[in-house]
Amino acid sequence: MKPSIVVIGAGPAGVMASIKAAHSGKGVVLIEQNSFIGKKLLLTGKGRGNITNMAGQESFLNYFNKNALFLRDAFRKFFNKELCDFFTSRGLRLKTERQNRVFPESDMAADVVKVLEKSLDNKNIELILNTKVTDILVENSTVTGVVLDSHRKIIVKKVILATGGVSFPRTGSTGDGFRLVKKLSHKVTQLRPGLVALVSKDKWVRSLQGLTLKNVKVIFSQKNKRVESCVGELLFTHFGISGPLVLDLSNRVNSWLDTQGVSATIDLKPGLRKEQLESKFLRETNGKKEIKSFLRLLLPLRLVDVFIYRCNLDPHKKISQITKKERQAIVNLLKALDFKIVSTLGLDKGMVTCGGVSLKEIDPRTMQSKLINGLYFAGEIIDVDAVSGGYNLQAAFSTGFLAGESASSG
Ligand SMILES: Cc1cc2nc3c(=O)[nH]c(=O)nc-3n(C[C@H](O)[C@H](O)[C@H](O)COP(=O)(O)OP(=O)(O)OC[C@H]3O[C@@H](n4cnc5c(N)ncnc54)[C@H](O)[C@@H]3O)c2cc1C
Repeated sequence: MKPSIVVIGAGPAGVMASIKAAHSGKGVVLIEQNSFIGKKLLLTGKGRGNITNMAGQESFLNYFNKNALFLRDAFRKFFNKELCDFFTSRGLRLKTERQNRVFPESDMAADVVKVLEKSLDNKNIELILNTKVTDILVENSTVTGVVLDSHRKIIVKKVILATGGVSFPRTGSTGDGFRLVKKLSHKVTQLRPGLVALVSKDKWVRSLQGLTLKNVKVIFSQKNKRVESCVGELLFTHFGISGPLVLDLSNRVNSWLDTQGVSATIDLKPGLRKEQLESKFLRETNGKKEIKSFLRLLLPLRLVDVFIYRCNLDPHKKISQITKKERQAIVNLLKALDFKIVSTLGLDKGMVTCGGVSLKEIDPRTMQSKLINGLYFAGEIIDVDAVSGGYNLQAAFSTGFLAGESASSG
């Protein structure tokens, strides 16, 4: 069949776009530079494939860091329920876990990829692997085809660009799409790593490598800017901090790091006020107890040493000998354990890309370029990004669906 549409990139966005476009009966060529589809998808949800989230549409949009409204039309066409139906109707059993996160029952992202692979087995879709698109051909602001790395040209009037972002480049998202559209005068906003761990140079922070803190809050600030996490889990690493709380806020903090460091503060006791913590000291009846043993009741052992060091305490000092000033210093530190963040771990380690093709130049009702007729965008290449929880994959599937539908209509 003579192709009408070329889709570039066989991640979730490109695959969904191809399936939807082929459904109209049009011929689709899907081109992927890797030797198999969905390489990044295999890594999602720690290999378990957190494909979406069952939050309602309005609260779902709140999990996007900015530009969420751009996705409204795509979500109206194809949202979490439709995505779940897509997979379950093809034999993949799903389950919903805490915080409404949806996974395959098998806990294997590979099973999600298998369903997508099988769905591409359609007479209207030609899948070309191990092949890179090197150029998009345009005449009079209208798409005329693409050029492959073999120098072969495919002549079509519709191209869907679903090449992903620039993070985790070893999966194939090496930023080709951005280079291709910049040549066509599209604006690409600044690209930064998102859902990424943060680096601290403070020695005591690095010395806590491997320690996980549960039920804590983290606050990042710089001058008059401030973001606060909900209560959750934070992990100390050999370079700084990671864990769900940190990754989710990293998308907000990353741009602040362009100019200077960011202050991080951990509230180790978010459920207690300072006065309540102070009265814990005052209520201690065994005045002979050493401060180190007392702190052990409030903190993991490795943090006790940090407190002794940060508050300049004698670890063997008895509770009854602790001065008011020392007690207040400990309480203050329990509510605000502070240190500096100097950078993120970088694009190599970011789970998503913040930034992308400017939304001003994409029609949200169709995903078509406002500059080039016949050029459509889908997935992470677009300037939208969300926290973890299945939101990013849903955005990729939904924009893929809408781009596929629009490119194949008319
Ligand atoms: C470790 C990790 C865990 C994640 N976990 C989750 C999660 O649990 N839930 C969630 O919602 N999101 C998660 N994400 C994010 C999610 O994987 C992405 O949002 C999603 O894969 C984006 O889909 P996409 O189709 O736009 O891009 P991609 O999946 O990056 O696919 C783009 C494809 O285009 C191909 N390509 C690029 N350039 C060319 C070219 N010139 N020619 C041909 N092919 C090309 C690439 O090889 C690639 O296969 C995770 C990401 C990572 C890295």
